[in-house]
Amino acid sequence: MKESEIRPKALLQEYLRLAEIDSRQLDVTKFVKIACPACFSDNCQLHITKNNYKYDLCHDCGTLFCNPRPDGEVLDRFYDSAESSKFWSNEFFPHVAEPRREKLFKPKANRIFNIFSEKGFFPRNICDVGSGYGIFLEELKKNFEKAELYGIEPSPEMAKISNEKGIITLNASAESSAEWSHRFDLVISSEVIEHVFSPEQFVISIHRLVKSGGYALLTGLGYEGFDILTLQERSNSIFPPHHINFLSIEGFEKLFKKVGFSEVEIITPGELDIDIVLGSGLVTEFTRLISKRGDKTIAEFQDFLRRNKLSSHTWVIAKL
Ligand SMILES: [Zn+2]
Repeated sequence: MKESEIRPKALLQEYLRLAEIDSRQLDVTKFVKIACPACFSDNCQLHITKNNYKYDLCHDCGTLFCNPRPDGEVLDRFYDSAESSKFWSNEFFPHVAEPRREKLFKPKANRIFNIFSEKGFFPRNICDVGSGYGIFLEELKKNFEKAELYGIEPSPEMAKISNEKGIITLNASAESSAEWSHRFDLVISSEVIEHVFSPEQFVISIHRLVKSGGYALLTGLGYEGFDILTLQERSNSIFPPHHINFLSIEGFEKLFKKVGFSEVEIITPGELDIDIVLGSGLVTEFTRLISKRGDKTIAEFQDFLRRNKLSSHTWVIAKL
């Protein structure tokens, strides 16, 4: 898979341009200072600045996070009204929905099915938190044929479309979904944790949805991936105030254990790190040489990153 297949360059550039304009609309004087959102250490220092937003690095667990940051209410309003958010749902996402179904959602559903089949775990019901139009649930249904599927989606428009497809969808955020407490064998959330004001409150909400003996599976961006480690503030993944949390492997582990999960397993099955670095315009001796060595070396290098938890696309599999 190539990055351009799921994020066409022109659309991505326009989205990032709008996000940068949006990021200047927020009142920086009202931002709040936080401790590390993964391990709660104060041993953190300014590491990079992007579009005038500061990101600290936690010297205890290695998490990168925007600090100070807009509070939860400001962020909720931002997501409702920002031009970049509208562009994402009205232009970007519809354009890439079908390629993403084939390239991302189908293989992801297959992988999830394989992971839990190997554990001998066959969920009777599954909830997708941040379920959007329900496309990922439709793909999951093909693997988990007997499972009942549910969605939780904060956008009223998306929740409506999802309900019309016959997927029971709660129009709420994870944090306000208490009415569905302790209901699900498996709770999934894709690419939400990097956006939220408090990863702890978010993981608590996920934990609350899971039944005793059940599992949560969260996917999102982590800091310790080759692309982000290499590109730093040049990384297109780091853009405020949309992406504000980049937990380390240790940070993910500590947070999920603190919230009450008994087993926490982390994998980084990402496929794009090296493609993103090579496509970024950054030229180093390493990028020059690996490009010259060609596709086989590049593929083997990405495989090495995957196997050693060095891709930024992170999955947390946590048992209650
Ligand atoms: Zn930390």
